Amino acid sequence: MRYHQAVHEVPILLEGCAPIVDDRAGRESEGLLPSDLLRGGLELPDLPEREVVKHFINLSQMNFGVDNGLYPLGSCTMKYNPKICDEISSMDTVAHLHPLQDVSTIQGALAIMFELENMLCEIGGIDAVTLQPAAGAHGEFTGMQIARAYHESRGESRSEIVLPDTAHGTNPASAAMVGYDVLDLPSKDGCVDVEALKAAVSDDTAAFMLTNPNTLGLFEKEVVEIADIVHEAGALLYYDGANLNAIMGKTSPGRMDFDIVHFNLHKTFATPHGGGGPGAGPVGVKQHLEGFLPVPRIVCRNDMYELDYDRPESIGKVKAFYGNFAVLVRAYAYIKMYGRDLQHVSEQAVLNSNYLKQGLMDVFEMPYGKLRKHEFVLSGRALKKRGLRTMDFAKRLLDYGFHAPTVYFPLIVDEALMIEPTETETKDNLDAFIAACKQIMSEDPEIVRSAPHNAARRRIDEVKAARDMILSWRSYRGKKESHHNGQASTARD
Ligand SMILES: *Cc1c(COP(=O)(O)O)cnc(C)c1O
Repeated sequence: MRYHQAVHEVPILLEGCAPIVDDRAGRESEGLLPSDLLRGGLELPDLPEREVVKHFINLSQMNFGVDNGLYPLGSCTMKYNPKICDEISSMDTVAHLHPLQDVSTIQGALAIMFELENMLCEIGGIDAVTLQPAAGAHGEFTGMQIARAYHESRGESRSEIVLPDTAHGTNPASAAMVGYDVLDLPSKDGCVDVEALKAAVSDDTAAFMLTNPNTLGLFEKEVVEIADIVHEAGALLYYDGANLNAIMGKTSPGRMDFDIVHFNLHKTFATPHGGGGPGAGPVGVKQHLEGFLPVPRIVCRNDMYELDYDRPESIGKVKAFYGNFAVLVRAYAYIKMYGRDLQHVSEQAVLNSNYLKQGLMDVFEMPYGKLRKHEFVLSGRALKKRGLRTMDFAKRLLDYGFHAPTVYFPLIVDEALMIEPTETETKDNLDAFIAACKQIMSEDPEIVRSAPHNAARRRIDEVKAARDMILSWRSYRGKKESHHNGQASTARD
């Protein structure tokens, strides 16, 4: 079956209806908040339910999600999320909790979090976990703060973070946000160049950030030696856990001697993502760093769960309340459901990846090594001979009912295509993807260059979308009005 997005013209709900103005919120908070922070009348669409339902159903048909088909967006682990996890996280007893409730009334929620921390400790091979961070990048930021607090506690002020040139863009960004200088290490055959690492680390190195398998899908076999080099320099080893889907139950960052780890619950553990919704990026550490974790810590005393704020070395809070609780519940349900079988998730993810890679070997060039883990990177360089680029190929895949892979990352591969099928695809789906790739290669380049033809929108100007962001009704209307006024004055002139 080939999925096609629907093509609708769907106006914004507030367009084409006279809004009702609601200023209750403002009135009710008078005296509670400074008046200059209060918003005036809130404009709400005044529409029958039927129109609102139509609006959102039509929009959903213009979308592509993990429930529609193969979504091989490398590094993002866009796997199918079992619906039972959504069901459990939206149960009244979960969804209707209030973060300000007394601890005695949320013992069950604290038990879930406490147990989830322990399960992540086991999966990660680490000693303690905080669930607070809201995303992978936020976990990196938290981890870098822990690194800084650790070095300061030893009377050292180290200023540099080292990372390989295959690193995800969030790694250098997180390090820089904590105030570190970033040193980019060139890779050798797609992996860490051990000699270059030796030369790069010094008593100024706070940490080395690495993901294993790395973003090329290659397992860093020298990881134990890498850990020794980093530790001998007095630095910490940080694990970017976005690629955990490749190794669960097989090995762990702890066994590889990493000191700090983040998890992407929304990638590995069943929370839908990609639309910018809530995620979670728990951070785990080995024993010697436990004191630096954010407060509060959930502790169990006399069969009661309590929140412990009495942690003098803690870096403080990194997120309001408890983190994104509904995401944590999904992860809890997912891990409980699989139990010891979690390792089969990784086995199947790696098998699917290598099956797909094998099927695409004669379609694309494959730089660096042969066997991959959960994802692999191809080069679309040969497309240039036909006047095409990787982006054209990616857009054409949409016409075949597949989401495009990640393109142009990692940066060290020319015209990169980064493909991660995940464990939730069947062999038939993988075969259909291979067939589509082969067919696109034999098509008239003009058809590929002007793709997509069968999507809700034609080629989107991505630079304009990134630079000219219109993300609220107010800015949308402002833009429209200034456009309108501009046109009116042109007409007058
Ligand atoms: C997704 C990803 C991140 C960042 O995680 P977010 O949850 O998107 O902030 C970091 N590193 C790698 C390798 C990733 O794939």
